[in-house]
Amino acid sequence: MHRRHFLVAVLCLSLGGLHADLVVLSSGRTLEGRLIEATDQELRLETFAGPFRIPKARVVRHDPKGGGDFAKYEAAAQAGEKDPSAQLALAKTCLGHRVFARAREHLVRAAALGVEEAKTAALSQEVDKAEAAWRKGLPQPVGVLLKVGTVQVLDEKERTWLIDRVEAASALLFRITNGGLYIQEVVVDVGSPKGHLVYDRAFTGTPEGSGSIPMGPVNWDPAVVVHEMGHALWGLPDDDSAGSGGKWGVSKYPCVMAHQWDQGFGPCCRQRLSAAFRKERLSEFFDRLEEECEGFVPDTQVTWKGAPAPKQARP
Ligand SMILES: [Zn+2]
Repeated sequence: MHRRHFLVAVLCLSLGGLHADLVVLSSGRTLEGRLIEATDQELRLETFAGPFRIPKARVVRHDPKGGGDFAKYEAAAQAGEKDPSAQLALAKTCLGHRVFARAREHLVRAAALGVEEAKTAALSQEVDKAEAAWRKGLPQPVGVLLKVGTVQVLDEKERTWLIDRVEAASALLFRITNGGLYIQEVVVDVGSPKGHLVYDRAFTGTPEGSGSIPMGPVNWDPAVVVHEMGHALWGLPDDDSAGSGGKWGVSKYPCVMAHQWDQGFGPCCRQRLSAAFRKERLSEFFDRLEEECEGFVPDTQVTWKGAPAPKQARP
């Protein structure tokens, strides 16, 4: 839901000299590539790992002459445009950088320029194998268990609505954590005032607490649910400017508590979540850029306690 205003479109491809850009993110991650455009808010960078939009708030260093490897690659790509063996070499370079799509492009080009099929097929197999191994090593989204109590016995319509809200919160959590966390299971204890969160039809106040947090119908907004989950599941503190008093969603310390995608993760949130999910390597998700966060939110399993599940299947 972040809007982008391209106020100043500045830089286009400049091919003079063997220079490309090096960008260091606040996480310490470095990216080499070619700057395509710079605006007040972000840099657009063509890198070995694909094209990225990088929020300026996350950039700690930008060296327009630091991207030596990328510059060499670009020069070789230009020089070897019609050279079959150069295309093979470029495919190997891309394979080395794990840029599998580009590696395949160079192989197709090599084949079109007359490289014998046995050679391109062997390298193509190598690319497939390397990509499969890389994918296998990627951390998987981590599912969390959310316990919800309800003060009243809910009717069928209310139950369906509640699960819709939980699923929306799961989607938001997934997006906020760059595909790292989602609600794998929600256990709804109907008629019990205990849980991480407690649905209360009559509640009109502000949700507060660190467990069994009361939530009235207006409180089941995905951002609020995720915020209260931060308290109840991970003991995260309130942000100065989140919720009461401050402007919602604007935060000095962005986090699941008050998320601003372009600011990355605040240090406290990062530390606590990384510690809570050390085994699952959650911290690896924090450095991802938007373009690396595609994918579907895994389904949320619903378990009803104290009442039968709604009869009607939801669409
Ligand atoms: Zn709070």
